[in-house]
Amino acid sequence: MNFSEEERRERALKIFEILKSEYPNARCLLDYKNPFELLVATILAAQCTDERVNMATVNLFKEYPNPESMAEAEREKLEALIRSTGFYRNKAKSLINVSKALVERYSGKLPETVEELASLPGVGRKTGNVVAGNCFGKPAIIVDTHVKRVALRLGLCRETQPDKIERELKKLILEKDETHFSYVLNFHGRYVCKARKPSCGTCPVKDLCPSSETGGQIL
Ligand code: SF4
Repeated sequence: MNFSEEERRERALKIFEILKSEYPNARCLLDYKNPFELLVATILAAQCTDERVNMATVNLFKEYPNPESMAEAEREKLEALIRSTGFYRNKAKSLINVSKALVERYSGKLPETVEELASLPGVGRKTGNVVAGNCFGKPAIIVDTHVKRVALRLGLCRETQPDKIERELKKLILEKDETHFSYVLNFHGRYVCKARKPSCGTCPVKDLCPSSETGGQIL
């Protein structure tokens, strides 16, 4: 179904209002104390649950609390600490490379813009948006698997590539609300608009959803 941008903007605002009250605690579920920790946790969250990442990072951050220490990490030791998050060999390589880049390019301090963050090795726009939105208050549409699915089912975008979805959603929402909007869509995807069996019958935004009659199938 094709909707005009104006129609989608109006509907997005209504959906945002409803989901804000439905999920008053919508937020990033990864544990972190500073931007570096959130960057690391987000890299580890690829193909892994936030709960599992949070368990692994307790000891990881004790051992490697900053880019300087992680850049010098012994690969095998780092791998052992993050093994439970899956794909640990690639993730260990990414963490060492991104830490080295942070030390070399930014003296160990994280840059604040999505563009700078996303230019770090192994860091894409999603991770850049997570850090920029949560730690630096930048406008950030965070397109993870939940946000992508929910936005498509709600007919807020037609694109399927994350970068394009990000651009489409940015047109619908005020900059100051971008991060919050991302997290209410994320929570809706986690708890109601699930991948396999969306609960359309009890969904609070079903009257605004073009996929409500098809059980989440996008027309
Ligand atoms: S009506 Fe169904 S498909 Fe639409 S947002 Fe709600 S749960 Fe998802």
